[in-house]
Amino acid sequence: MDPAVMLRDQPVPARGGPWKDICQLQVCEPRLREKMISGLSMELGNGRTIRFWEDSWLPHGTLKDKFPRLFSVSTLTGAVVGDCGFWDGLDWIWSFQWRRELFQWELDLAGQLHETLQSAKPTNEREDTMMQAEVFPAEITSYSFTRAIWKGFVPPRIELLSWFVLIGRVNTNDRLCRLHVLDQNDKLCVLCSKSEETVFHLFLGCDITWQVWCAWLHAFGRSWCPPGNLKDHFESWTNMAIWRVERKRWFLGFFAVV
Ligand SMILES: [Zn+2]
Repeated sequence: MDPAVMLRDQPVPARGGPWKDICQLQVCEPRLREKMISGLSMELGNGRTIRFWEDSWLPHGTLKDKFPRLFSVSTLTGAVVGDCGFWDGLDWIWSFQWRRELFQWELDLAGQLHETLQSAKPTNEREDTMMQAEVFPAEITSYSFTRAIWKGFVPPRIELLSWFVLIGRVNTNDRLCRLHVLDQNDKLCVLCSKSEETVFHLFLGCDITWQVWCAWLHAFGRSWCPPGNLKDHFESWTNMAIWRVERKRWFLGFFAVV
């Protein structure tokens, strides 16, 4: 996504896996699109692209939702922020026009609107930008190491499976026991029947799985220490210095073993 372009103007990528599908979804399906937009917010720059009432550029949602009455009598619906005021020297003065004279209680609302806008003003130093309204929880950002998966070397469903493995969201026996799908006695690994079948064990720690990894590594002439977790394993794999021509094959190896 281009952070300098408003969501409604984002180009749909011509190629690419899940991201392309997501973009198309939001373009075709207005309800989803709204949902996506409400999860984003804009940072005010020169105010030339952010819509004053409809876009979420201040904390706590859109002004249209916060002041529905004023929105309904505004003559500036659809206007961008930069059209809702003017510069008086270095001061930005908010200025609105209404379809009719406001009732007293509406004037009070207008006062509240001005209060809300008190510390907000456009700046000519930068363009408006779009950003995530909410900061992602650490759990999600800590998955950023999985970015290297989405290279299009393998079909999307394989990429997705590998992603689930790396973030530990696979229905291994331990998980199915926790969810009471399996009996507590069925926790053992399907391959070795010795240890509890966790994601780490099934995809890396199990003796049998490790032999598969080692066979692949051997074919590449690499020796490998058994890593402590899947994240370390994947990171050492992706950070490996490999000849450019070999690189794709090396990556495919990871997916193949998983
Ligand atoms: Zn095992």
